[in-house]
Amino acid sequence: MIKTDVIIIGGGATGCGIARDLALRGVHHYLVEKGDFASGATGACHGLLHSGARYAVKDAEAALECIGENSILRKIAQKCVEVTGGLFVRLPGDSKRYRDSFLKNCEEVGISTQVLSPSRALDLVPELNPAIEEAVSVPDCSIDPFRLCMLNAVTSRKKGGGILIHHKVTEIIREKGRCVGVKVQDKFTSQTKEIRAKIIINASGAWGDIIARMGGSEVPMTLSKGSLIISNHRLTNMVINRLRPPSDGDIIVPNEAVCLAGTTSIQVDSPDAIEVDAKEVDIVATQAEQMIPRFGTTRLIRAYTGVRPLLKADDSDNRNISRGFKIIDHKNGMFSIMGGKLSTYRLMAEKTVDAVVDQFGVRAHCKTADLPLDGQDELSGYPLSKRLKKMDNIVCECELVDRDSVENAINNLGIQYIGDIQHRTRLGMGPCQGGFCTYRALGIMQEAGRLTPSESIQILKGFLQRRFRGIKPALWGDQLREEQLVESIYLGILNMGHKP
Ligand SMILES: Cc1cc2nc3c(=O)[nH]c(=O)nc-3n(C[C@H](O)[C@H](O)[C@H](O)COP(=O)(O)OP(=O)(O)OC[C@H]3O[C@@H](n4cnc5c(N)ncnc54)[C@H](O)[C@@H]3O)c2cc1C
Repeated sequence: MIKTDVIIIGGGATGCGIARDLALRGVHHYLVEKGDFASGATGACHGLLHSGARYAVKDAEAALECIGENSILRKIAQKCVEVTGGLFVRLPGDSKRYRDSFLKNCEEVGISTQVLSPSRALDLVPELNPAIEEAVSVPDCSIDPFRLCMLNAVTSRKKGGGILIHHKVTEIIREKGRCVGVKVQDKFTSQTKEIRAKIIINASGAWGDIIARMGGSEVPMTLSKGSLIISNHRLTNMVINRLRPPSDGDIIVPNEAVCLAGTTSIQVDSPDAIEVDAKEVDIVATQAEQMIPRFGTTRLIRAYTGVRPLLKADDSDNRNISRGFKIIDHKNGMFSIMGGKLSTYRLMAEKTVDAVVDQFGVRAHCKTADLPLDGQDELSGYPLSKRLKKMDNIVCECELVDRDSVENAINNLGIQYIGDIQHRTRLGMGPCQGGFCTYRALGIMQEAGRLTPSESIQILKGFLQRRFRGIKPALWGDQLREEQLVESIYLGILNMGHKP
């Protein structure tokens, strides 16, 4: 049995942020996550570090939180944030009155804006629709959620915290009505472990109510599915938003070699087994094309989806639900942190840790806004242009990942699963979506003695099936041809369809 002071359930941005904050205040803790880091909404999001402008008109509090955290994260997380800047573009027919309230509210919240003529905006982003009537620049950025989680976890590990990824909480242990620990199951070995603590923090995002119920309480939530598409080119170097009330498909975010466009907002009952609907792909692609016409002809390489853990509200339109957050003390040894955004994860962690440290008589103040994230120097080249400098022994051509980086992930970070290599190196995240590099990475894992040949075939089959679920809804034109090529590599050359 493991003993600690605090158990954190969930290895998304919120859970990892809490682990870092506890570590810096000297509180011992264990973080447990059923998948890899960022397997929930964090890894399925748009990767937009909001300036807050999107919320300025309807949700001033969330906007204020975003702009505050935006300037903090630019300083402390330089290897995760690309300072792209953002444009809100007004197209013919978009309300001028909304534009006026937008500018007024941004000013009130303290978000800097500049109104740009169409020609100035087209100078900045040549692929923009030339019919735009104007654009407003804001300090939006692109952020890598995978790196963000892992770098937050580095501090926890350095200060002696325990991190168990691929461990699912299957039970909350209760004694005399109090939550005193958890039982977790290892995904690879199926072994169970018991961890006991004084406090449990439920940072499990959309799974929050499921976990709270295991502990005898509940958390009121609205679950909102959002789907996104990935283009095979970086069609813009700035974040592009539509200057109108938030609605479907109105944001495009550059993300290294590709662009992410989204999203939809559909209420769902469960965070599990959600799929992208082909209709959502149509909606998002059509909207993206209105802002950047080349979205209509460019190859879409995949669609993906995640579930927003929103605070419960009666409003039937999920977009009207506040993006603010709430900390619930269940008064039974468990706290839940709900709602919020990736952009405000650090603040959410700070307020949660403030709420629990009293229980340990710890007076230390939060330092997470002042200290840069640990481990940034050791990261492989970032952004993509830096990786070009060491074009040697490349395993993944799309994202320029070299053999050293893959070997480092396997040998020094103890990675056992191909998806985890991708999250740490970006292997397979570019236009070919792993078609050419996944089998190479598995070969390296075999050479390192991590897998037998038959295990690697099973893993490869599972990986290809999962990827195909995201590729299927965006399968036409050039992407269909690309998939046929991938199919002939795996079924033809590698004979993967062969039944022994
Ligand atoms: C489509 C979409 C787009 C978005 N875009 C943006 C954006 O651009 N910018 C932004 O700021 N925000 C964005 N958001 C919101 C943001 O992604 C979330 O608010 C944030 O990532 C939530 O982080 P979290 O750590 O609280 O939850 P999650 O990331 O969901 O983490 C919860 C974790 O708990 C784990 N877990 C669940 N059950 C168990 C269990 N039994 N045992 C162990 N672990 C468990 C899950 O595997 C998961 O990893 C978006 C959300 C969606 C869905």
